[in-house]
Amino acid sequence: MIEVRMHGRGGQGVVASAEMLAVSAIRDGKYAQAFPSFGPERRGAPVVAFCRVDDHTIITREPISVPDVVVVLDPTVLRAVQATAGLKPGGKLVVNTCLRPEELARDLGVGGCTVATVDANRIALQFIGQAITNTAMLGALLKVEPVASLEVLYGLLRERFPAVADMNIQALQAAYDETSVAEFVMGDIVMGDKRKKLVTDLPTWRTIDHACIVFEPGSSVQYYTGDWRSMRPDWNSEKCVKCGKCWMYCPEAAINVDEHRDYKVDYDYCKGCGICAEECPYGVIVMVEECE
Ligand code: SF4
Ligand code: SF4
Repeated sequence: MIEVRMHGRGGQGVVASAEMLAVSAIRDGKYAQAFPSFGPERRGAPVVAFCRVDDHTIITREPISVPDVVVVLDPTVLRAVQATAGLKPGGKLVVNTCLRPEELARDLGVGGCTVATVDANRIALQFIGQAITNTAMLGALLKVEPVASLEVLYGLLRERFPAVADMNIQALQAAYDETSVAEFVMGDIVMGDKRKKLVTDLPTWRTIDHACIVFEPGSSVQYYTGDWRSMRPDWNSEKCVKCGKCWMYCPEAAINVDEHRDYKVDYDYCKGCGICAEECPYGVIVMVEECE
C-alpha cells in the first residue's frame, strides 16, 4: 500500500488533488481512498488530505500518520505545521519551493528519505495564470511515486474541468519534467537553523481544551497567524495621512503605531484579510501576493 499525505492551505485544491489521485488510481485498476482533515475552515488555513492506493481492498479508514509520501503544495505551510512528521524511513518528501532538494533537506534537517522539489508557483502562474499549484504538484508527485498513470489523470481533468483542462495538463506535465529529486541517507544532513524555528510545541486545535478555551492570558502572541497569509498588505507610506482607520479596523491588532504616528504592519501576525486595504480612504494599502 502507498499512503500519501498532502499539506496545503484552504482554497489551494489540496482536497481535490487527493481525490483526483484516488479516482485515477481506481481507473487504473487499483483500490484507493481519499479524505480530508480540516482545522479552522477558512481560506488560507492549513489543510491536510490523505490518499491510500493499494492492489488489494483497503480496510483502514484512519488518518495517515506514517506516510510513504508527503506532498507540500504551499511552502509557507512548513512554518505552520510539522508536515514531515511520521514520514517513513526511505519515504518521499515532495515540496513546492524554489530551493534545490539539498537546500531544502538541510533547512528541514531531514535525512533517510528522498526529497523532490519544484517551483510549482512559477509553473502555475505561467500556465494557469494563478498560483494554484494542485495540478502541478500532482505532476511532481507522480514523478517520484507513480501511483496513477498520467494519461488517466489527464482524462479525468478533461472530464471534470473541460474549460481549463489544457492549461492544467500543461502545468502538470511541466512540473513532472522539472521536478528535481535527490536521495539522502540518514546522517547525511546537518540540521539547519530554520528547523529550529519550525519546530513548535504549541498546542493545536486538537489538543486545546474543549470549546477552545485558552486559560493562559496573552498566549495568542505565540501563534504566528501570519503563517496563514496568502496575500499581504503593501504600504505606500508617503500617501498616508495618519488617520488611524487601518489600525482601528485590523482584526488581529497587527498594525502598530510608532512615536511619529507612523503605521506599520507586524507581518508575524497579519493574516492578510485585506480589511485595512478596504478601509483606508486614501488607497495607501494594496494587497499583493505573498511570496516565500
Ligand atoms: S491585512 Fe490588514 S487588517 Fe488584515 S490582518 Fe493584516 S494588517 Fe490587519
Ligand atoms: S487608513 Fe490609510 S491613511 Fe489612514 S493611517 Fe491607515 S494607511 Fe494611513
